[in-house]
Amino acid sequence: MNKVTSTAGSGPFLRVALDTPLRRTFDYRPPAGCDPRTLRPGLRVAVPFGPRSLVGVIVELAGESALPPGKLRAALAVLDSEPVLDPVTFDLARWAADYYHHPVGEAYAAALPAMLRAGRPLNARETRWRATPEGRGAATGAARLGPRQRALLDAVGEGSLGDEELDASGCTTREVLRALVKRGWLESFDVEVPAVEPPPPTVAEGPSPTAAQQAAVEAIVGALGTFAPFLLHGVTGSGKTEVYLRVIREALERGQQALVLVPEIALTPQAVARFRARFSVPLAVLHSGLTAGERLAMWRAARDGSAPVVIGTRSAIYVPLPDPGVIVVDEEHDASYKQQEGFRYSARDLAVIRAQRHGIPVVLGSATPSLETLQNAIAGRYRRVDLPERAGAAGKPRVAVVDLRVQPQTNGIATSVAIAMQRHLEAGAQVLLYLNRRGFAPTLFCPGCGWTAPCEQCDARLTVHRRRHVLACHHCGAEAPVPYACPVCATEVRPVGQGTERIEDSLDELFPGVPIVRVDRDTIRKRGEIEAALERVHSGEARILVGTQMLTKGHDFPDVTLVAVLNADQGLFGTDFRAAERLAQSIVQVAGRAGRAARPGEVLIQSACPDHPLLTSLLETGYDGFAQAALVEREQAHWPPYTRLAVLRADAAQAELPMRFLSAARDAARDLPRDGVRLLGPAPAAMERRAGRWRAQLLLESASRGPLQRLLAEWLPRLDDLPETRRVRWSIDVDPLEVA
Ligand code: ADP
Ligand code: ZN
Ligand code: ZN
Repeated sequence: MNKVTSTAGSGPFLRVALDTPLRRTFDYRPPAGCDPRTLRPGLRVAVPFGPRSLVGVIVELAGESALPPGKLRAALAVLDSEPVLDPVTFDLARWAADYYHHPVGEAYAAALPAMLRAGRPLNARETRWRATPEGRGAATGAARLGPRQRALLDAVGEGSLGDEELDASGCTTREVLRALVKRGWLESFDVEVPAVEPPPPTVAEGPSPTAAQQAAVEAIVGALGTFAPFLLHGVTGSGKTEVYLRVIREALERGQQALVLVPEIALTPQAVARFRARFSVPLAVLHSGLTAGERLAMWRAARDGSAPVVIGTRSAIYVPLPDPGVIVVDEEHDASYKQQEGFRYSARDLAVIRAQRHGIPVVLGSATPSLETLQNAIAGRYRRVDLPERAGAAGKPRVAVVDLRVQPQTNGIATSVAIAMQRHLEAGAQVLLYLNRRGFAPTLFCPGCGWTAPCEQCDARLTVHRRRHVLACHHCGAEAPVPYACPVCATEVRPVGQGTERIEDSLDELFPGVPIVRVDRDTIRKRGEIEAALERVHSGEARILVGTQMLTKGHDFPDVTLVAVLNADQGLFGTDFRAAERLAQSIVQVAGRAGRAARPGEVLIQSACPDHPLLTSLLETGYDGFAQAALVEREQAHWPPYTRLAVLRADAAQAELPMRFLSAARDAARDLPRDGVRLLGPAPAAMERRAGRWRAQLLLESASRGPLQRLLAEWLPRLDDLPETRRVRWSIDVDPLEVA
């Protein structure tokens, strides 16, 4: 901003972050009649933007603007009397925008609940829609109604629907809604939604801590009031949650709040229940299943302190808290903490930054810590506390590999695994089978000519879904009917390989009449379905559990004594540098579901490569030994955590455009100080075509953060001006999880 005559002296001007993909802020004059003394950074304003009006956040009061006075428009209204974000979360959003090089307006938008983004007041209640008496008459009478208007009135019926329910009903658009409101047949009304869960009438005391738990609690409690990052490395079932609970209780007793981040609340209702049972204070739970009104109410309760304990998924890292005492990140290795699209921030990493700003401890807990976090502990940046033993009566499970090259199998289940299952079932225990592949079979194959059913939109094969009678692409969601014969040579085609559906069928054959519960994204689609599935497990009704990753996450299944990993090989040969780490984590996590109560556990891992060094190191030395070996490899290969990465990705509807853009981008960096940053590529993505778009990437690698950050800051603004930019979509991913 160094050109032309600037508007000086007649400020203050509002420098506003708007929810647009543009990498800049926008200047406005204060609204007419506004007292300039009431203006402050952090207040939301409504502003004109082209023909529209947008809601933004004041990030700065500027004394002068680069825009000439005539060009400067006035804001329409100031929406708040006090900033909606506290100073730390306000700065955190800004810091994240800078660090992840994301448009600042979108970064602030990510920190706010949808209703605040839409300009509703902080104390807004939830809006619902109901039919007026005339509307109900119209729906049943002979009034002229379009099919979509009728569908909407039918969906509302005698009751009412919230915005999310309207969207989910699939029968409506805003247009239809507006048309009905205009005819006086539909009206909105506001309702109060319960803000927080009230505390239970009595609070459970919890088991007396083990020596290791006690030591961990003392270490963390001793650091309350100062910035201190901890790695709480506890084997599965070691009672990490018990440590969090005791630390949080201490923070509450000092009158402070606690923020707990968890990977996925919908999948682990148990975890929330354990927190609820232990504290005589209201709990705010923030997750993606909330309505906009519920979310705002929870957010408000966190913000005004009426909910001393706040549990949430990734985006809860931005929830304002008046006086936090500790931040917990449970299962810190979980990939869901990194947003994989749009604003690609890591809530785990932001938790450490946030704790630093507040001057409080942050606890990163995991049985399988990420190599980044382990390295931070080794380097002395994080304090490591260990829970090496399982809590209570549980012992360590026995682990063995089943060699698929020599063992006969029935549709993906080796004979020795079936025999072990029989034994555990007869002993009255439950059995868990893990397979990270949903559907019936991953491939539809022609034995005549070798054809496999491809996705038209992606470089990928279609998965056979027999229950729904479709072929589905797990990358773009495309679906196609299942052909009977090969389209090339007319030979009868057949499904090859195993998915969870097929395993369920094999189990019906092997163990007729034994109740099975299958947990994957096909069986768990709606709110409440995971609770129902888990209830079948906990009541003991279901005897065999089959599932994907969903079953490995943090569940406590006391009666499961046998866990079988059906296809470990899927992860052994991944293209990404993190593939081995991911596989080791999921094997150890799923193995950790076995024998968590008094009965001993057994874990069987099916593999056609039983001598693979990853499997042998995992078996012989456990996760720690594996991690040590993996860190050595990463160091030798110059991968994180020994280097810092960023990926510039591009995609376009035409094949050559992404590579052309990335080459131009590379050239645009030529005269910038590199300071040791290497640009690798561009190269097509491992799956070059996805959802009809061609994809490529350019990798940036640096020995340390500073030079990479400086290069990105100077380089990225140049990309907007390249002619090649116009026909591609591009994004930057700092600290990417995947570079394949
Ligand atoms: P993690 O999160 O480390 O996998 P959890 O916190 O879920 O472990 O604890 C595993 C099980 O052990 C739970 O059923 C929990 O109630 C129990 N547990 C935890 N700490 C103790 C303890 N000190 N004494 C007895 N049981 C305990
Ligand atoms: Zn064929
Ligand atoms: Zn596809």
